[in-house]
Amino acid sequence: MKHIDMKKRKAGSWLVILTLTLLCSASADKKNYYCEYCGQKFASVSSLTSGRCQRHPDGAFKGRHKLYEGTEKEKYTCKYCGMQSNSISSLTSGRCQKHPNGYFKGRHTPAL
Ligand SMILES: [Zn+2]
Ligand SMILES: [Zn+2]
Repeated sequence: MKHIDMKKRKAGSWLVILTLTLLCSASADKKNYYCEYCGQKFASVSSLTSGRCQRHPDGAFKGRHKLYEGTEKEKYTCKYCGMQSNSISSLTSGRCQKHPNGYFKGRHTPAL
């Protein structure tokens, strides 16, 4: 009896691994990467970080895009003031009155 149980368990764990692998590859295909500063969409992190960002905090094109590490959402919330917008690009188009650098000294920044 014990021997049969072991066999069953082994088959079960392989099925879990297979399912996880399939899920991972499926979600990897669909995943988009967004810049936290400008909201531009990229197909890979390497293409995101190879370009310069128009909305970089140091000035337009003064630095590279920064990966937004949160998940894709229907609404994005500024982590400083709580303003909401339906895309990162529209959220970061405005300046934030509660920005840590000072009143309107920087753009809204999406919370993760
Ligand atoms: Zn950018
Ligand atoms: Zn804000």
